[in-house]
Amino acid sequence: MSVAGEGWDGVQVPVVGARSWWLDEALAADPGEPCPPLTGTVDADVCIVGGGFAGLWTAYELTEREPGLAVVLLEAGVCGAGGSGANGGFFSSSWMSVGDICRRFGEQAGLRWATAVGDAVGELGAWCERHGADVELHHEGILYGQAGEWQVGPDPAALALLERHGLGERLRALDAGEARRVADSPRWTAGIFTPDLATVQPAKLARELRRVVLERGVRVCEGSRMVALRHGRPAVVETAGGSVRAAQVVLAHGAWAAGQPDFARAFAVGVDYMVVTEPIPELLESVGWHGHVGLADHRQMLYYLRKTDDGRVAIGGGGMGLAFGGGIAGRVLSSQRLARLAAEGLVWLFPALAGVRFEHAWSGPMDMTRSGLPFFVTLPAGNVHAGLGFSGHGLTSTKVGGRILAALALGVDDEHVRLPVVRPPDLLPPEPLRWPMVRIAEWAYETSDRAGERGRRRPPLAAAVVSIMERYTR
Ligand SMILES: Cc1cc2nc3c(=O)[nH]c(=O)nc-3n(C[C@H](O)[C@H](O)[C@H](O)COP(=O)(O)OP(=O)(O)OC[C@H]3O[C@@H](n4cnc5c(N)ncnc54)[C@H](O)[C@@H]3O)c2cc1C
Repeated sequence: MSVAGEGWDGVQVPVVGARSWWLDEALAADPGEPCPPLTGTVDADVCIVGGGFAGLWTAYELTEREPGLAVVLLEAGVCGAGGSGANGGFFSSSWMSVGDICRRFGEQAGLRWATAVGDAVGELGAWCERHGADVELHHEGILYGQAGEWQVGPDPAALALLERHGLGERLRALDAGEARRVADSPRWTAGIFTPDLATVQPAKLARELRRVVLERGVRVCEGSRMVALRHGRPAVVETAGGSVRAAQVVLAHGAWAAGQPDFARAFAVGVDYMVVTEPIPELLESVGWHGHVGLADHRQMLYYLRKTDDGRVAIGGGGMGLAFGGGIAGRVLSSQRLARLAAEGLVWLFPALAGVRFEHAWSGPMDMTRSGLPFFVTLPAGNVHAGLGFSGHGLTSTKVGGRILAALALGVDDEHVRLPVVRPPDLLPPEPLRWPMVRIAEWAYETSDRAGERGRRRPPLAAAVVSIMERYTR
């Protein structure tokens, strides 16, 4: 299915690489101590599957609560090899979607979740200081710019709700002039600013978490893919080279969990693309983008962009790939069209940056639930817990999620396990129905965005699909 429109021509992108620019940079700076693959049979109090943020924060929280616990973490590749080392690095609050969250969970419970996520943004700086972690953290907020009247602005109900609860300052409405003073895109017609966002170098955060949990005695086995899980007491997690007999198991293997029957209908696997420019610090000053405030627009497939510490721009969005049945391999990971779409966003938002060179392109899988919210469940066996479905917003919610998963694994009944996301996911249709359904939705989103960019009306079919999807995902 193709999307009408000629694109913002002249933008060239490199071949989509297998590894993100972030992870290359982080590993080159510090490969960390070796974590050899699992061999033989080992016993553990808790076995964690997946060395992304969800698994690493869980390991961290377990050692925080019970320092003597025997924790083994199994990672198929290297820690940070999944979405956690490939993302935009927006450590963000969920205030922009607080209206939807409260419609789903009720006002009190919804606000508890949004507040937990919002608070986690501020906690990251203290965590980095405590552990001497350099993750290129900049807590300067984000401008969600409305790039034209065709882009739907923030949900007025969300703004009113925050106001009612004394949280009005979490989202500040800006007019075009104020938005352009944050970063001078000629596209902005209005904007929303929230101070509750930090940018990080995501792979460095993943690698620093790995360092800290290793220092705390967690046994991290890289190159150790779980190939089988046998339920029982203990449960047994098998890899090609060994097995872990564990009293408790935490499944935190992100989009790859789609291959497991328990989660086959829990989420669709989307693939998001990012590109990074050459260093252009002076050019960024010249377009009035000072400091490290993050930027995003309000389109359906929103563009999100931020600076790196060496003066580049990393940008993603504009479109998305979709893996059939959750199969994360092959062409869905290497679309030049989607990488170019991400790059075109920079030139569209800042025409003065036309001609900048893009030096690296990559992609990463995301476990996308129907609501866009994660879910935390304990499987019927009673000692296998899962935290999945972070849906493109996992940086902050995996930090909160680590507390939830640690509490579930330790059998502690605290405020974390009473958060409303501790519940089964809304099921999506099974394949082969799901792929065409989500693909049509993506086509409609992208087509609507392209029409808006060109000052045209949305084609009626695309508009109808978008409106159906808005109701379906609520
Ligand atoms: C391009 C892109 C941009 C994004 N931008 C943002 C953003 O700016 N802000 C934000 O909040 N979120 C963003 N996200 C989403 C965010 O990256 C994820 O929500 C988050 O990283 C999920 O963490 P995770 O630990 O659940 O999964 P992952 O990081 O994917 O970790 C899962 C790990 O499990 C391993 N694994 C898989 N199968 C097995 C197995 N069988 N055995 C052992 N290990 C296994 C994988 O190798 C992987 O390392 C983005 C995602 C992408 C792809």
